Amino acid sequence: MTQVTAGTTDAELRELWAKKKVKLDAAEKQWRAENPLTCEDCGKPMSVDDCAIYEEAYSCLRTSGTRPPGTVCKKCAAARGIERDRQEAERQQQQRREREESRKRRIQEVQQDLSGHIAKCGVPSVLREARLDQCPDLPRDLVECARAWTQNPEGFVVLTGKPGAGKSHLAAAILAQILYDGTYWPLNCAFVSQPAWLDDVRQEYGNIESDPRPVSIPLLVFDDLGAGYLNEIRRAVVEQLIRRRDARQLPTLVTTNLSIAEIQENFGGRVTSVLQQDNRVWNLTGSDLRISGKIKPQRPARIRGDDPLSF
Ligand SMILES: [Zn+2]
Repeated sequence: MTQVTAGTTDAELRELWAKKKVKLDAAEKQWRAENPLTCEDCGKPMSVDDCAIYEEAYSCLRTSGTRPPGTVCKKCAAARGIERDRQEAERQQQQRREREESRKRRIQEVQQDLSGHIAKCGVPSVLREARLDQCPDLPRDLVECARAWTQNPEGFVVLTGKPGAGKSHLAAAILAQILYDGTYWPLNCAFVSQPAWLDDVRQEYGNIESDPRPVSIPLLVFDDLGAGYLNEIRRAVVEQLIRRRDARQLPTLVTTNLSIAEIQENFGGRVTSVLQQDNRVWNLTGSDLRISGKIKPQRPARIRGDDPLSF
């Protein structure tokens, strides 16, 4: 073999390296022939075209004597991918089933103690048994409209009519249906009487503070809009509530003894237009159900309904 010296030319070096490489390649070929790379899954020997990590696998085999994990032929790699996808799909389906079952269980819990859950939303005791299928004195189409809204509560619904027409009763029945169907969880619903809510409004150092829950609760029944004592501050607080719920697109059911003209007079054009924007102002014109004895008289409710003394 030619020795490399200081006088060796580049051409000679290249020739030397080429000869050496031929030898090395032959040795590697020989070694690979004696140590075939086989597929982990099907066991078949693989060529460079069969395996995506062919060179990497051989270098690992040379240094550690074992194939790296995942040394599989392309066919088996595809099968592994399909299997992985199948397992992932099964896992997701199982998760969906579990979520659905847990939801059903929670709905059952609510259904089993509907009146209790209604109470937690702040519904006064006299209205806790109100149910949509037990409103025989209300027009059938009105009850059907109400039922349709419970399926997909959105925007504003306004129940107007004289005192005793059954507005609060219907509102409580609508809320009961929403809870019964699991459309909303009790935790996300509140039945708030305007006079009781406004009684808690404070004005300190020029700041008006009110219980913020009705503003942000996902579903609100705002009972008796315009009732009780009103002054400029109280009107502004109510107007803000309506406007903020409108801005957040939170479903809101309002009951009121006031006509639309009277709402306009008391709370101004913005509140009136918000309340009317969904075309769901339902007028209850029926005779006084309280006088006829079909509905028990109702005292004002307070939002912190857990305290029985509040009612
Ligand atoms: Zn294979």
